[in-house]
Parts: sequence; C-alpha cells; structure tokens
Amino acid sequence: LRSYGSDTRIPTVAAVLDLIRERGTVSRVELAEATGLTQATMTHTVRKLLEMGFVHEVGKAPSHGGGPRRLVELQPEASYQVGIQFDRYTAVGVVIDLAGRIVVRRDLRRVGDRHPEDVLPEYAEAVASMLDSASIPREKVLGIGLATYGPQDREKGVLLTPQPTPSWQEYPLVAKLQEDTGLPVALENDATAAGIGVRVEATAASNFAVVFMSGGIGAGVIIDGFPYRGATSNGVELGHISVDALGPRCACGNRGCLDRIAGPASVTEQAMGNRSLVSRLGLGKDDLTDFLAIGRAARSGDAESESLIAGSKQRLAIATVSLVNLFDVSRVVLAGAAFAEFGDVYRDALQEVLDESVFMRHVHSVQVQLAERPADAPAVGAAMVVLRNLLEAPSEPPIPAP
Ligand SMILES: [Zn+2]
Repeated sequence: LRSYGSDTRIPTVAAVLDLIRERGTVSRVELAEATGLTQATMTHTVRKLLEMGFVHEVGKAPSHGGGPRRLVELQPEASYQVGIQFDRYTAVGVVIDLAGRIVVRRDLRRVGDRHPEDVLPEYAEAVASMLDSASIPREKVLGIGLATYGPQDREKGVLLTPQPTPSWQEYPLVAKLQEDTGLPVALENDATAAGIGVRVEATAASNFAVVFMSGGIGAGVIIDGFPYRGATSNGVELGHISVDALGPRCACGNRGCLDRIAGPASVTEQAMGNRSLVSRLGLGKDDLTDFLAIGRAARSGDAESESLIAGSKQRLAIATVSLVNLFDVSRVVLAGAAFAEFGDVYRDALQEVLDESVFMRHVHSVQVQLAERPADAPAVGAAMVVLRNLLEAPSEPPIPAP
C-alpha cells in the first residue's frame, strides 16, 4: 500500500476501505501502521467511513500499553454496486455488496450486431430485475459500472471505437443508461475492470498484471492497488503490441499486432481456412464460440486445433514477457471469457515462457494464475469502479441514506 502522507482526501479513503475489507476486524492503530498514515489521518478517515455507514465499531481489543484499541469492521450490506460487462460475444451482469461478494449474477444477452438503443433498455431492465430478485432497495445502490471495449472517453461516457458495432462509437452510453435506470453509471475498459475485479478476489498482492482475453486481447496493470491508467485511461493495450514487425497490418495502423495474429478472431480465421476442421468442430458461429470449440478440441488431442492454440499461446506468452519487463510485476492473472474453459492451458504455457525469459527472473519469480472466475472478473471490477469513483471524487463523498 502506498503512503499518501497527510492527504486525507483520496485515494486514502478507498485504500483504507480496501484494507479493512482485506483484514476483517481491525483497529485504527493497525490501519495506521499498515498504511504509513498518521494516527490523526486514520482517525479522520475511519470517521468518514463510519459516517458513510461503510464500516462499524465492533468492540475493543486489549493492547500492549495504552488503552484498549477500538475495532472496526466492514458493513457488507451497507451498499451494493451493479457491474455489467458486455461485448459482441458475451454479456454478464452482477450485483456485489461492499465486501465484493457476488449477490446476484446473470448471463445477459450479448450485443452481437445490435444498436445501443436496442441493447441498453434491455440492460436497464436486467438491472432492475437483479436488484428486485435480491430485495435490494434502490437507495442502497451506489450505481452501475460498465466494462467494455476501449478506447473510451470515461469522462464523457462514450466509446471511441466502432465496437461492438459502429453504432456504439460516440453514442451517449452512460447518459442513456443513467436516464433509463436513475442510477449513476461509470464506464471502464474491460481489461482494467478485470484487474480491479481480480483484486477483489485475492487482495494480498496489490502489484500485478491482468492479461485479458474475450473477443480480443487486452491487459491491465494494478500498481499499489490502483489501476495504471495512462494519459487518457487507455493504457496497456497488450493486443496492439507487435509480436512480428513484418506481420500483417492491423486496423490500428501497427504491424503484427498480438490480437491480429494470436487473438480468438485470428485463431478462428485460421481455422476457417481448413474445411475438414470447420466441419469437424461445427465452426462458423462467432469468433469467441468458435475459439472455445477449437480450444476444447485441442485439449482433447485434436492435432490441428492443438497447433492453432500453440501458436496463440506462444505469441501471447512473448507479449506477456514484454508486459512483465515493462512493469516489473511479480504476478500475472488471466481473466476474460476466452480463458473460462481452458485457461489453465494458457497459464501453463505462459508460466514456462516467463520462467525462462523474464529479465528479472533471477531477482524474483513471476507467478501466472487463472482468475477464480475468469468470465465474471470484468463485471465484478466494473461494479467496484462505482465505489472507487465515489470515494476518489475530489469533493466530499455524499453520505448514502442509512
Ligand atoms: Zn493493432
């Protein structure tokens, strides 16, 4: 955890709340020691969290010298956040409590070729229905986080990319969903959201990278518990790192981009050129569904599928070495729907390549692991973004109704 000196604003409040979530029952003294903040700052910060109803006092513990220490604990049902991850191929909705636990989870209808005006009312209805199913009152809901394609303008709440379809580019996504639901809506890059979602799962290591693969490849880097955002919140575009300087031109303008030659769309495209493979696996649905079919076939020993997946794994591993070398992380987590069924195959391949190629391997090892719920991590992370936005706002966070 980074020390923020005497700055009692932000991101102190968010960091302290994270720490309380991690430690369970904890005293202000322990929190001050763990963060390097002064006692006075910690007292002020905890008071703020008490006022918001996010934590509560749970008695006293004896201490060595001095008076007994008053203990605080998270109040998990004090507030709830909604997260939706969507792209062309998948859509997942979750409601989580303040502890980051999933209270409701739904598979939503994917975007496919549809226009936002067809999709957003449907998602608004899903939000209402998820909240109703868990009897969560609206006033306890902090808002909705949306995780999807980048680049984005998070402040304007619009996508700057013609994905999932061109009709989504510059569409007032956030404003429209706010209007439809009456709740605050925040936008987040899906790979960054996955990083935040994974942090909720396993909070111990706060410096790590997430390699994200759904319809495409992305990545996120979490430094001292906070996502690395770059100048415009569009950092760590792993899918557009070149792994072949003489490779095919990518839509982004670069050559031999990782996503263009190793992502699900590329693996599927290569498979489509092999007629016997297409009929054997029943390919021709969509890039992600086909990719998952190829991965399953590879796992059960289909040689042609194995060779396609091997090429994808190898290139993803080489790009991940660059990612680790740039940010010096000691952990890489795999998340996203494309890792849901055979992510362990990628995990093992990445581990092997990282063990022999990472520049820093003689100083520290780098562990590759699969997210506990690879397909849900972005939705969970998007939900957490709502809380973070509230706590990291420059003004005093509003106190939710008790
Ligand atoms: Zn590219």
